[in-house]
This record gives sequence, C-alpha cells and structure tokens, in this order.
Amino acid sequence: MTPKSFNGAIIIYGPPGSGKGTQANIIGKYFNLTHLDTGRLVEKLVHNPRLKNDPIIKKERKKFDSGKLCTISWVVRIVKEEIEKIYKKGKGIIFSGSPRTLYEAKRLIPYLEKLYKKEKICVIRILIKPQTSIFRNSHRKVCEKCGYILVYSKKNKNLRKCPICNGKLIRRTLDDPKIIKIRIKEYKKRTEPIYKYLTKRGIKIIDINGEPSVEKVTKNIIKNLKNCMK
Ligand SMILES: [Zn+2]
Repeated sequence: MTPKSFNGAIIIYGPPGSGKGTQANIIGKYFNLTHLDTGRLVEKLVHNPRLKNDPIIKKERKKFDSGKLCTISWVVRIVKEEIEKIYKKGKGIIFSGSPRTLYEAKRLIPYLEKLYKKEKICVIRILIKPQTSIFRNSHRKVCEKCGYILVYSKKNKNLRKCPICNGKLIRRTLDDPKIIKIRIKEYKKRTEPIYKYLTKRGIKIIDINGEPSVEKVTKNIIKNLKNCMK
C-alpha cells in the first residue's frame, strides 16, 4: 500500500465506539489529509490566550466550560474558516463525526462542494451493532492527566498507564452503559437526516463494517475510498 495525496474531503461517520476518530487519524495520514476535529477546534479557540478578551470568544468559552453547546452559527463560521485555510494550503481534509447536525451539514456541505467539487467528497459510515458500541465504550479508558482515549482491544485490555504520558487510565461516567444507550439513540436521530440530505444531493454514502479489528477496518475503508476517488 503506497500512500497518495487526495485533494478532496472525506467524512467519517459512526456511532460511539465505532472508532471513527481513530480511523480518521490513520486514513488522514495515509492520504496526506488534514484532520478537522470540530470539538478540538472549538476548544483550541476558546482557550487561546491571545483571544482571551475577544467578546465572542468570552461568551463561547463560558458555554464551553460549563458543558453547554456553543452557538451553532458561530461553530459553522469557524469551521468554514478552517476549511478555507486548509483548502488554500492545497490540502485535502478529513472529518470524523461532523458535520454533526443537519443545520451544520446544510451550511458546510455546499461550501465543501464549492471548494473541492462534489465528486471529491467521500462519505464513510462505519456500522457496528449496538452491543458492540456499548461493550467498547464501557471498556474504554481515558488518561486522567492528558485525556488520551484508549480504545478497547484484546491487546491493550490490561493496560493501566497512559501510553503517551504514563498517567493513570480511568473509566469515564460518559461511558456508563445507560448513558451510551442514550448517546446511540441521539446519534441515530441526529445523523439519519444528514444521510438523507447527502443522498439527495447526489453524494454517495459508503457503508463499512466496523466489527473487525482496527487494521481490517482501515484496509476496507482505504479500498473503498480509492474507488470513490476515481
Ligand atoms: Zn496521558
């Protein structure tokens, strides 16, 4: 497998525990794409010391730090700005789990089409059974110190220390089975209208079985993406 560059946009969707973030990182490196993680972009901006006194940033930081959702029109605007920056560098882009809502999709997809052309937008949907989602999420651990998320696998199930900073690995309350069930339901409710919208615009959604190992899923995604990129 020789990596090549792709000057387009790839979106990876999947329920909690489908490994979409992990796959977006691997696939992004493989095709030389910039990974645009909306959550991380928002966090980086609201906690940027240089923007500390900006009135809009101040307002959004308050929301962010209290766990509330940031103003959606503001999020769309900053994501658009980031997309433009990446595009102007001549690079392709990969998203994991976003656009998150139909509102965002309706504003961001036409923009991506304008910049990269419709033929160069590939959407991957990773499918896993609800039991898998619950199992993986309730077995995954998070580093107390740096926030690194350790995805469950047979190889690392006994790991107690963070592979990045050696901090203690703990379970999150967010990964409680009851809460995961709610998150799966919310994911379905939120993303189904997006799939309909994409299909209507003539953007094909490629379904990938997310049950096998990370390596196997990656291989399958790459194979399908190469078809999409033709
Ligand atoms: Zn750590």
